Amino acid sequence: MSMSEVDWARRAVPGVQALAPYEPGKPIAELRREYGVTDIIKLASNESPLGPSPQALTAAREAAAEVHRYPDGNAFELKARLAARHGVGAERITLGNGSNDVLALIAQAFLGPEREAVFSRHAFAVYPIVTQAAGAVARVAPAHGADSDQPYGHDLAAMQRLISGRTRVVFIANPNNPTGTWVGEDALRAFIEQVPGDVLVVVDEAYFEYARDLAGLPDASRWLDEFPNLVVTRTFSKCYGLAGLRVGYALSSPPVAELLNRVRQPFNCNAVAQAAAGAALDDEAHLARAIALNTEQLRLMEAELRQLGLTVLPSAGNFLCFDVGGGAASVNEGLLRAGVIVRPVGGYELPGFLRVSVGLPEENRRFLDTLERLISAPA
Ligand SMILES: *Cc1c(COP(=O)(O)O)cnc(C)c1O
Repeated sequence: MSMSEVDWARRAVPGVQALAPYEPGKPIAELRREYGVTDIIKLASNESPLGPSPQALTAAREAAAEVHRYPDGNAFELKARLAARHGVGAERITLGNGSNDVLALIAQAFLGPEREAVFSRHAFAVYPIVTQAAGAVARVAPAHGADSDQPYGHDLAAMQRLISGRTRVVFIANPNNPTGTWVGEDALRAFIEQVPGDVLVVVDEAYFEYARDLAGLPDASRWLDEFPNLVVTRTFSKCYGLAGLRVGYALSSPPVAELLNRVRQPFNCNAVAQAAAGAALDDEAHLARAIALNTEQLRLMEAELRQLGLTVLPSAGNFLCFDVGGGAASVNEGLLRAGVIVRPVGGYELPGFLRVSVGLPEENRRFLDTLERLISAPA
């Protein structure tokens, strides 16, 4: 048999055979290559429009001079700072190459054939990917209906009903991406109290800093002592503006962290990222600016999208998901031709919707004006 005749898909493990890869937001350079557009704004990946803290950049540059050395595999400095910030011991922290990596570690350590993960329909795409890659079964709960006050959001009661003796992990994004919807403190606590103590509840707080300001969402990490089965994930990719460096982490009970650290690659969090993240934590003024800008601009964009007659989902993040009905594909195409990159969310079973990240005021203005033109004068 020659190499070209090998059906490699059939040689892959079953979970991977049926896996659909994650579709990231279109990079600026790709739009330039494909469409020849030059003046481009990207509002497609929930990145911080303010960029990183200047202090984080200085720390990154200093660390870059030492990249012939391996990183500190235990990230002593960064973990110490995170531990102090959260008021927990460093033995509760697992660092990742982005929080995406931490989600994969959880799946690797706790999921596998005959085991199940529970999450909601329209939830963050990484949950089905890591579940399936581990060969485990995804139990997808129906989401709230379009008429709910959290349309298409997590229905915790429906998720509860899917928990069985085979469930090892429940994933909750609070707020969820791409819907922006959330679950409040009382409902979340009540849910965790109901889950059997030997099932992990992963509360993904990627947008925590924004969500606290926008919707008063709880900091689930405060409940770690009460619930040894709770895992809270956070990231430096969103509000801290360090998406390109890849740093995220989990907070959990020490035995769970110890297991995650067994499967973690020893140097998964690189030296430049460790240094930048530590410095970013200290620049509270920069974080406050990012939060204030987002809260103000999100409210404004939400109101303007509604004025255009569009249905907009409530959001506790730095993005808005809005319904353009049958025209989603052509509106997206029109936006791309005008140099505005947003995110189609058909892959999340929301085919009529687009998701836009909150940018700088002038970027948001340009997006809104372009959208209005496209909607009022369809091609
Ligand atoms: C962006 C995002 C993440 C993780 O991003 P990383 O860059 O891997 O830290 C995790 N969860 C949700 C819901 C997100 O939107």
